[in-house]
Amino acid sequence: MNAPLFGFDNSYARLPEHFFARLSPTPVSKPELVQVNDDLALQLGLDPALLRSPEGIEILSGNGLPADAEPLAMAYAGFQFGGWTPQLGDGRAILLGEIADQAGCRRDIQLKGSGRTPFSRNGDGRAVLGPVLREYLVSEAMHALGVPTTRALAAVTTGEEVFRERALPGAVLTRVASSHIRVGTFQFFAARQDIDALRQLADHVIDRHYSIARESERPYLALLEAVIDAQASLVAAWKLIGFIHGVMNTDNSSISGETIDYGPCAFMDTYHPGTVFSSIDQQGRYAYANQAPIAHWNLAGLAQTLIPIIDADNKKSLELAQQTIDTFPSKFERAYNEGASKKLGLETSETDDVLLMTDLLDTMADQHADFTLVFRRLSGLDVEPGPEDDTVRELFDDPAAFDAWARRWRARLKRQGGDPSLRRERMASVNPAYIPRNHRVEEVIRAAEDHGDLAPFYQLHEVLRNPYHEQPEHIAFQTPPRPEEVVRATFCGT
Ligand code: AMP
Ligand code: MG
Repeated sequence: MNAPLFGFDNSYARLPEHFFARLSPTPVSKPELVQVNDDLALQLGLDPALLRSPEGIEILSGNGLPADAEPLAMAYAGFQFGGWTPQLGDGRAILLGEIADQAGCRRDIQLKGSGRTPFSRNGDGRAVLGPVLREYLVSEAMHALGVPTTRALAAVTTGEEVFRERALPGAVLTRVASSHIRVGTFQFFAARQDIDALRQLADHVIDRHYSIARESERPYLALLEAVIDAQASLVAAWKLIGFIHGVMNTDNSSISGETIDYGPCAFMDTYHPGTVFSSIDQQGRYAYANQAPIAHWNLAGLAQTLIPIIDADNKKSLELAQQTIDTFPSKFERAYNEGASKKLGLETSETDDVLLMTDLLDTMADQHADFTLVFRRLSGLDVEPGPEDDTVRELFDDPAAFDAWARRWRARLKRQGGDPSLRRERMASVNPAYIPRNHRVEEVIRAAEDHGDLAPFYQLHEVLRNPYHEQPEHIAFQTPPRPEEVVRATFCGT
């Protein structure tokens, strides 16, 4: 094969050898293309036609390597459901290399499901088609929704079976990230008291993601602050669209502030703060409303790893790290409340605004209202009550519960004044009509895994490209599941 060049420049591969293991993907028997993300390919300066070509499919399946790739599996550790695992690492993923996208940002190109690595432990290094499609759909939907996330550049099937609770079709996802460095990457070196490595990793991250921290008097403290900012706004964004990550272990918590590792993730239909989907989250540790406290806990773990390098005086380091980590809750609240005000169409600020949102949510929880539809349809309501109110009222078990809240909301809108159509437009631009509803994702997975039918995948993917625009021909994709369609548990699919 005439291996094409991707234009890789692999900064991670230039870090010390104990940061990773160098190895190539394991070839697969019969790769077939599922999808190439043309828009993303172009953004990355890659030729979509090349990716779709036989040479491209060889690369996307791990059967061939771009000539300038320096493939490696990254080492990391992690707290999984609160329990410490000193060595995790890329057990089924291989970083091919890094390229500069059209905006000049460095992006990782990684194959997920590409075979065993020294970090595989008991795993087979493979991925199943269903979870690959879920990650493709949900990560691309998150991007379209405006939430920082890793992206999906391509998916291929391998022609091989992967054995889980039964034999399932294997697949490889090509994932793109600003970087794959996790809180768990820092924890890997901290646990080994490898201070040199920690400093090198921190310097790498500063150069790559937070160069402004370099100018600070204490760059590693500034780095911590920057990661806290990024995670606070990320988790606020999740909460504002009803997203539940599902496995917020420190190894799934990205330093760049992107959503990473789409396992048993899901969007809520009916609003309830305690919602959990993941089949492995028996205690509800990663329930919807726990996500901010968990992000705080994860970041405290990051802070701890940085103590040896923040200041020469350990006591001073500890004090500074503690002060910095204590800012998370207020940063999160600020980001969340700003977003909540936008969801309600509020453009001025009043002391009771937070209460207006929490009271609506409490009512929605009591009345089993659909999270996404309430906000979307609220966006269409006039400042005066009218017949279209019924589109929202009908979402509540007892519509009168909404009426009481709506009176307060309308009084608030009147106090702020302004152009009502502009207000509606702005609300519609933050309250999506289309989310990857779990029953739809499940439908896609069943069709693909059980019948080799990818049509539902292509269709759902298309709908989710424009989540904030009404698509009258796809109105059915807005509606919540019927009782028999409700998906109660999601699986990692590892
Ligand atoms: P995850 O729950 O997907 O974030 O994975 C946690 C850890 O398990 C990571 O180190 C993964 O690389 C590893 N892992 C997950 N699935 C597999 C698999 N099928 N084979 C090998 N390692 C895996
Ligand atoms: Mg992971």
